[in-house]
Amino acid sequence: MTRLGEEIGAVLRGGADYIHVDVMDGRFVPNISFGLPVVQSVRKAFPDVFLDVHLMIEEPIRYAEAFCDAGASLVNIHVESDTPANITATLERIRAKGVRTGLTIKPATGAEAVYPWLEGLDLVLVMTVEPGFGAQRFMDHMLPKVTALRQRLNEINPDCDIELDGGISPTTAPVAIAAGANVLVSGSAVFGHGDYGDIIERLRTGA
Ligand code: ZN
Repeated sequence: MTRLGEEIGAVLRGGADYIHVDVMDGRFVPNISFGLPVVQSVRKAFPDVFLDVHLMIEEPIRYAEAFCDAGASLVNIHVESDTPANITATLERIRAKGVRTGLTIKPATGAEAVYPWLEGLDLVLVMTVEPGFGAQRFMDHMLPKVTALRQRLNEINPDCDIELDGGISPTTAPVAIAAGANVLVSGSAVFGHGDYGDIIERLRTGA
């Protein structure tokens, strides 16, 4: 936690709005990463941080409430990860915990896959790389999907955020924002840069 805690403190001082935590189960995606203890320890060290937890796991209904209890501010689940009935039930359980809800789509999944749930969501996360691995190139052919979602949300749930995750850099951030995204996840571009304040400002302004 000490090294992770230092890095989180540094990006927050650099102006990051959220800390995005990728959780992988080795089944929905091949890798395994951060679980509940990490979310708990980050919450303990940073009581006020907005913790955006991205569950890349199968049947997230098994763990969604535990991540809420661990300190998530928002829990993202994948629309591909369970049956429609269980997706509805999982979102209801997250909401019942007073935690914000996000529904995520992989690159191969069309925007319409999330349409049945749009009305009650706080955020839709559009993956702009294949989930599960870092440092991939941004898929700009995802942008029409973002625009379609933004138009649909403007009609039925205009306060819902659209988040993009994967390959976000100062080059791709402006096109992501132009397409309709308003929350951007950036890993490699931020952590590969010496000055977090500078890179976060460039991502935010597209400069
Ligand atoms: Zn993620």
